[in-house]
Amino acid sequence: MRPDLVAKYRNQRVPRYTSYPPSPQFSAAVTAGDYRRWLGQLTAADTLSLYLHVPFCRSMCWYCGCHTTVVTHEAPIRRYQAALEAEIDAVAGALVPDSTLSRGGGLPPVTHIHFGGGTPTLLPPDAFLSLMDRLARRFGRPAATAEIAVEIDPRTLTPAMAAALGQGGVTRASLGVQSFDDRVQRAINRVQPYAATAEAVARLRQSGIGGINLDLIYGLPHQTVDSCVQSVTQALQLAPDRLSVFGYAHMPSLKAHQGRIEAAALPGAAERTEQAAAMAAALEAAGYVAIGLDHYARADDVMALAYNAGRLKRNFQGYTVDTATALLGFGASAIGRTRGGYIQNQVAVPAYLKAWEDGGEGWAVAKGLALSDDDRLRADIIEQLMCCFSVDLEETCRRHGRPLAEILTPATERALAALSSDDMIICDKTRVEVREEARPLVRSVAVLFDAYFDPGSGRHSYAV
Ligand code: SF4
Repeated sequence: MRPDLVAKYRNQRVPRYTSYPPSPQFSAAVTAGDYRRWLGQLTAADTLSLYLHVPFCRSMCWYCGCHTTVVTHEAPIRRYQAALEAEIDAVAGALVPDSTLSRGGGLPPVTHIHFGGGTPTLLPPDAFLSLMDRLARRFGRPAATAEIAVEIDPRTLTPAMAAALGQGGVTRASLGVQSFDDRVQRAINRVQPYAATAEAVARLRQSGIGGINLDLIYGLPHQTVDSCVQSVTQALQLAPDRLSVFGYAHMPSLKAHQGRIEAAALPGAAERTEQAAAMAAALEAAGYVAIGLDHYARADDVMALAYNAGRLKRNFQGYTVDTATALLGFGASAIGRTRGGYIQNQVAVPAYLKAWEDGGEGWAVAKGLALSDDDRLRADIIEQLMCCFSVDLEETCRRHGRPLAEILTPATERALAALSSDDMIICDKTRVEVREEARPLVRSVAVLFDAYFDPGSGRHSYAV
């Protein structure tokens, strides 16, 4: 990326746009009553993506930005499993009456299941299989083509759990690696020998799990361009189908444990840019297709095919091939989305457990956001920019039945002209395209269409 652009945008804080409106806009005005109503509006013509959050880990990685807590015993996980099962029953129950009585029967088919965390594979194997069975009994068996994905910490994956994942029908495993450099691993409190990752990959493949994703990070303490490229080289020896390469976001004011990372050892904006570029070059030289901001996939992987066909989507897990019309979230902090709006559960595990152990009347809904027509239009524009790096504003407004003037205000036109004069974008009538060399800054383009953006909020990560 051009150094002048890095210098100009390095201090801009912008949302990651894994949703629009971004989650800081959610409010407690949205309740379980709204969620039940939105669930009741789903029809058999919809499709469902189910997300289950397991907020437990064996130890805390200091770079972690996830909602998780450290547990050393099985009892809290068993207790949490019971709450998840209560939530599955309640949410599925809210779908049934309308869809069977007035719409000719049948629940929306499940096309995607994702276990995220935390470390979902800390669930005892029988608990994982019990949850899969519960989902199938309440929502119906997943479609034959459904992707069933699980996030994995290779350090704690047991042979019994790998076998249970295969038995449960898991099709894709995402393994956290971040860096294979021992010095970096020690600086982030995540010591994970290469052999542990290789063994986990082998076990998962033996269990019949065909899709292997590896997660890498740049911008960690003590990382250099060489160590980043070395981590890519070692990751490629495991022949993953996909890799994600995220930039570390150091925000100790929001995540206190990040304060244990030595800030002086963090690479600066220019070094981060070089690291990202070097990792991208190594992956592309090995035949992987660059997808969106931070994903890479083999050319024959479904994500690469979806990207080339303009069908890539973006949700709370980042880039995805999940095209379900509704995302239902289960567990502490889980976020769901229906046509009506977003719902987020209680973030703290005790509050989530209390909600279900007290009878579940109020469910565990903490907050959410009812989507307006303007939100849906802007969400579509931002998703196209994030996924395809281009958008036709006029065509998108027409599809939503909204006037172009609502989006293309004089202020937005001036901002687009400024980006154009920086050679970041090409504007052709109402089509906006992010130039290839400015793609890492796509969030700084998307933000022009964010009606909620507050540049002074400081809640978001840096653009570079
Ligand atoms: S294993 Fe993953 S979720 Fe758990 S602390 Fe480490 S980075 Fe966070």
